[in-house]
Amino acid sequence: MDRESLFEEQRKRMVERQIVARGVRDPRVIQAMLKVPRHLFVPEPYRSEAYQDHPLPIGYGQTISQPYMVAAMTELLELTGDEKVLEIGTGSGYQAAILAELAREVYTVERIPELLERAKQVIESLGYTNVHFKLADGTLGWPEHAPFDRIIVTAAAPDIPQPLIDQLKPGGIMVIPVGSRYLQTLTKVIKKPNGKLQVKELFGCAFVPLIGEFGY
Ligand code: SAM
Repeated sequence: MDRESLFEEQRKRMVERQIVARGVRDPRVIQAMLKVPRHLFVPEPYRSEAYQDHPLPIGYGQTISQPYMVAAMTELLELTGDEKVLEIGTGSGYQAAILAELAREVYTVERIPELLERAKQVIESLGYTNVHFKLADGTLGWPEHAPFDRIIVTAAAPDIPQPLIDQLKPGGIMVIPVGSRYLQTLTKVIKKPNGKLQVKELFGCAFVPLIGEFGY
C-alpha cells in the first residue's frame, strides 16, 4: 500500500474509533474529518502519528489538538454551511481546514508568525479559498470583519474575552476552553437574539494558554 492510501486507511479508522465511537453524530463533521488530510498539517517527524488519539507538537511550544477534540468542538458550532466563523489560534491550520469544509468564510488569527505562514501554505495548497489569515493577538478578535456567526477559540482562556463576546452575532455560538493554564472546561456560549449570554460548561480539557491582552 502506498503512503497516501495508508494515511487514508488510518483516517477512516480514526473517524470510526475516536470520533463516531465517542458520540460525534453530525454527518457533515464526520465527512469533513474523513476528507481533510490531517497528516499534511503535522510536522514530518510526527507524521506517522497524525491519526493517533492525542495532540502532537507543531513547534514553538504549540500543538495540533487531538482529533476528537477538533470534531467535538466543530460539532458544537452547529454549522450549516452559511456561517462566517472566527477561529482564534490557527496553529497547524487543521481546524481551519475542517471549518473551511463546513462554513462559508473562515477568519483565523494566530500570534506566532512561523505557524501562521506554514498553516497558510498547507491550506492554500489544498485549494481552500475561503480562509483568511491574520497575525495578531486573537483575544482582540478581528473587528474589521465582525460580527461573526460562530467563534472558536483553540487555546485556554482565563475568562471569555470581552472583545469576542462583542464580536459574536446575536443568535451566534462560541466554543472556548475556560479555566486555569493547565486545566479548563470546554464552554459553549450562546448569544441570545436579545444579546443575553447562555453559558454551558461541558467537559474538562487541556489546551495551551491563550496569550494576550484578554488572555494569559
Ligand atoms: N487550532 C489549531 C490547530 O488546528 O492546529 C490548534 C491550536 S493550538 C492548541 C493553540 C494556538 O493558539 C497556538 O498556535 C498558539 O500560538 C495560539 N495562540 C495563543 N494565544 C493566541 C492569541 N492571543 N492570538 C492568536 N493565537 C494565539
